[in-house]
Amino acid sequence: MNELAGVYIHIPFCATRCHYCNFATGGYEPEIARRYSAALVNEITCAGKAMANSPSLAAMNAVDTIYFGGGTPTTLSVEQLSSLIEICLNTFDLGPDPEITAEANPGSVSLDYLKDLRAAGINRLSFGVQSFDDGELQMIGRTHSAGDARRAVKMARAAGFKNASIDLIAGLPEQKMETWRRNLDEAFMLGPDHLSVYLLELYQDAPLLHRIERGELRAIDEELTVDMYFTLMDEAEKNGYEHYEISNWARPDFQSHHNLKYWTGAPYWAFGVSAAGYDGRSRWSNTRNIHEYLEKVECGQSPIVERVELDDEGRQSENLFLRLRLKDGVDLLDHQRQFGVRVVDRYRNEIERLREAGLIELKNEKMAISRKGKVLANEVFAAFV
Ligand code: SF4
Repeated sequence: MNELAGVYIHIPFCATRCHYCNFATGGYEPEIARRYSAALVNEITCAGKAMANSPSLAAMNAVDTIYFGGGTPTTLSVEQLSSLIEICLNTFDLGPDPEITAEANPGSVSLDYLKDLRAAGINRLSFGVQSFDDGELQMIGRTHSAGDARRAVKMARAAGFKNASIDLIAGLPEQKMETWRRNLDEAFMLGPDHLSVYLLELYQDAPLLHRIERGELRAIDEELTVDMYFTLMDEAEKNGYEHYEISNWARPDFQSHHNLKYWTGAPYWAFGVSAAGYDGRSRWSNTRNIHEYLEKVECGQSPIVERVELDDEGRQSENLFLRLRLKDGVDLLDHQRQFGVRVVDRYRNEIERLREAGLIELKNEKMAISRKGKVLANEVFAAFV
């Protein structure tokens, strides 16, 4: 394994809970946040010690990305986030120019706070904008307005951030093509360096799903969602963004280095509640319960509650369907060198079927998902599991 590792740090606090959210997050309480920041420092310190006894972990000493996700990382003070960056610097070999991202809520950041974040070493911000329509934002329980989102991105620029991303959600209940187009126009007018767009997925107990079930809101049909995705692809291309991963677009050189690790099989550390890591052979995840997390880490125990060892076949098939998410797709010669598998032989029938349906393309020893395949991606991935 020679790829540099990433570090993911989960911050499980939010001002309120959005009506579609299934992330491990809860309300912000200063004392819990203080204990949690200290526990993260302990957990990272323990990882540093574990590297001395484990060759697979020692190979993850060289790190080039840190990603604060959540939850809302910007509920923490700059001092708390700084102490986490510092412990990473003391524990890992971070190299000269790491990408350090923090997710941020557009409604709760000030110019001074953003300037301090920049001074603390954070060099990339990812704003959870979700929509530029105040009615939609209210419906999904976001606490910020469209105006907050516009201001936040402008403040980030004024604070010195040269790398800013925004998230949008497509396929909201009652959403119309006109509102979606307006969302896209607003997004491209703001000019973020990176754009992530997720299709709304509702888990069983989501309050938004209950409102749909009660008939208070109307879910939009699949055909419209597909049209929205195609419109997004066209508009992003017109505006100079590269569609480098199924849900992600970037200006040249602004791909998320951290998120690329998830799709290319690179290793990554994971710290905090619900965080999930990978060392190239096994995946593990921490407890989702913040009280269990605090109790365990404060007693010097590991918060890991699940570990899955991948066999060669598991790693090979995972490599295929994760790389198919990327614009460049799968380099079939590389894949054969790495796993000893000739993809076109092993998956002959599946590949034939997907090609005939126009969902994948094979050219010059590369296999990539087609434009049509991107909207039916799950069907494509299922063929390789
Ligand atoms: S801000 Fe994000 S993590 Fe927090 S409740 Fe909303 S969707 Fe969930």
